Amino acid sequence: MTNGQTIVDRKRSNGDHSHDIKILMYHRIVDDKNLSHRYPQVCVHVRDFRHHLALLERWGFTAITFEDYQLCLEGELNLPKKPVILTFDDGYVDTFQHAVPLLQEFGTRAVFFVLGNQQISTNIWDEKIGLPRASLINEKQILELHGAGFEIGSHSMTHAVLPALSREQAWEEILRSRALLEILLNAPVKSFAFPYGLADTMTKKLVKDAGYSIGCATYAGRPRFGTDPFDIHRIVVPGTSDTLGFALRVLAPFEYYSWLRWKTKLLLFAHRNGKRNGQLLANEIIEAADIAKEQE
Ligand SMILES: [Zn+2]
Repeated sequence: MTNGQTIVDRKRSNGDHSHDIKILMYHRIVDDKNLSHRYPQVCVHVRDFRHHLALLERWGFTAITFEDYQLCLEGELNLPKKPVILTFDDGYVDTFQHAVPLLQEFGTRAVFFVLGNQQISTNIWDEKIGLPRASLINEKQILELHGAGFEIGSHSMTHAVLPALSREQAWEEILRSRALLEILLNAPVKSFAFPYGLADTMTKKLVKDAGYSIGCATYAGRPRFGTDPFDIHRIVVPGTSDTLGFALRVLAPFEYYSWLRWKTKLLLFAHRNGKRNGQLLANEIIEAADIAKEQE
């Protein structure tokens, strides 16, 4: 195959199944400068977000979804020359209001990770770490997103710390959220984002066994897309990302740097607390993640 050979095919013929696809992680897109200034890790101002989309366009990136990526692997689609995947966690109303019109204006595809439990209408899990309360989108808005062509992935039932749960509880969070979202959308849900980006061997296996084909972490995995589809590393785009900050994340191998820094912090944190890495309690992992994020 010569003319029609895709990037995927060529990679396969080299025996290499990995692809250098940057996965960007956003949470809230807000129109309040105070929020983006005070909580840059979760709030990006809408003007800055527009700037990010304009930069991606200027640099020649094409946004795809995980579903698109699967189709590329199956030979149904050609992988674009410079693919990028934009992900939005938790399903915030302000993201729905501010990001979606811009994504549509730029023709940018994206993935939204939402909870399976639609009774949870705000980010109650963030209260203990001092983040402001924010509303989550409802079933109608999730359907609207899906109808507009965005991919909907699961973010568990209740935003639980999965590695801290029993196998049965974790299974419930992972499988039930998929089932409920599939009933709502009347379509398959194939991607999963680990709450807090926290995944261990058991939770990754449960996500795979539950029928997902993609599992997204934050810092948990080796920063290489495609080597383990259940350990996909994402890059946090904070509200403080100016052109240079965004360029570093998108154009440079920033994920290696952030992953190494994350691992180092985790080990130091464990050392300070007199525990080995594998014995970190869930709360301590969250605290360590929080410290790492604050210092991003
Ligand atoms: Zn989340």
